Amino acid sequence: MKCIQCNENEPNKASGLCDACEETEACKINGLLYLPAAGLIFSLIFLPVELFDLVSAISAYFSRSGIITWYAAGAAALLLVLIGITAYASWQFFQRKRQTRRAMVIYYLAGVVSALWFAVLPVSLFGATWDNASIRSVLTAVIGVTCWLPYFLKSPRIGQVFVR
Ligand SMILES: [Zn+2]
Repeated sequence: MKCIQCNENEPNKASGLCDACEETEACKINGLLYLPAAGLIFSLIFLPVELFDLVSAISAYFSRSGIITWYAAGAAALLLVLIGITAYASWQFFQRKRQTRRAMVIYYLAGVVSALWFAVLPVSLFGATWDNASIRSVLTAVIGVTCWLPYFLKSPRIGQVFVR
């Protein structure tokens, strides 16, 4: 029996991999980490789209009424900050930097602020109704802080993968 990966060294019983391959495997972004990776990529694509739509809507409203509401201005500013935070977290994450832990904590906390501004605030202030998008954003934010944030803070795997 040889290691199932490199087919050279003696494998460990539990994994079928040799020590060297086990170590390489432990340092990869895989398994559970595909989920936050997908979340980051998704955010990187859709946040700029949302910002573009919002700015178009604001300028259309402004040319008609001459008014920019504090809510719309805040939303645009918040989206810009979110794009910055997401880009920073993605950079740290995909470079497997040591700062990833902190960057992801900021990213998940920003998700909560975003859900409050874009979903909870319109409902509580302007009597908007809960739609699929707002429910999804609140659920995503809640899962982020209750599951992923503790995972990034506590999991020993994070310490193995993000070391650069
Ligand atoms: Zn091997």
